[in-house]
Amino acid sequence: MKKVKIRNSEKEFIVGKIVCVGRNYAEHAKELGNEVPKFPIIFLKPPSTLIYDGDNIVHPSYSNEMHHEVELVLLIGKEIKNANDEEAENAITGYGVGLDMTLRDLQNEYRKEGNPWTLAKSFDTCGVISDFVSKEEYRLTGDEKIVLQKNGNIQQNSTVNKMIFSPKEIVKYISERMTLEPGDLIYTGTPEGVSKVERGDVLKSSIENIAQLENKIL
Ligand code: ZN
Repeated sequence: MKKVKIRNSEKEFIVGKIVCVGRNYAEHAKELGNEVPKFPIIFLKPPSTLIYDGDNIVHPSYSNEMHHEVELVLLIGKEIKNANDEEAENAITGYGVGLDMTLRDLQNEYRKEGNPWTLAKSFDTCGVISDFVSKEEYRLTGDEKIVLQKNGNIQQNSTVNKMIFSPKEIVKYISERMTLEPGDLIYTGTPEGVSKVERGDVLKSSIENIAQLENKIL
């Protein structure tokens, strides 16, 4: 079982579901040649794939195109189903930064064939997660910079208010389809600038005022 921590507190959560949103920044949808979605595109990652700050991301041998995706991650603190706006907002207990590592070659192949792209997003070490900052300690303004550096070069650089669907809208939408429980994580999508990583690359991911990560590709 994987756990996540709340910074400056003794609180820990056992990670439940990891729910991810695809194409939640218009510029990223465009760079992959996709339309801007009318509703959140949802997929899942198994919690067993999670790793933490400082851990190595293992490049699977069966892919030739692994991409980095830096994302704002929400930690759910309450059980909710069919939440209204207020319940959705109140269910978010903390914010973290995460990486949704993606095997883009496999994903494109699966999509072309009309098959689920689960295996492009669910390999071991594909999910990186920071400690969380609690909402009591920090209120998200939307102006926070979200940045990914690869070997010291800035690849992704945006602000979290460029998301198409806000954290509250995402939580509400998911809760109308599956119960959310304490310890569930929601990866809210990545801004433009995704790129291929090679073995030996070092990724630094950060969201201003929230957290940062450093991970090497093996
Ligand atoms: Zn993603």
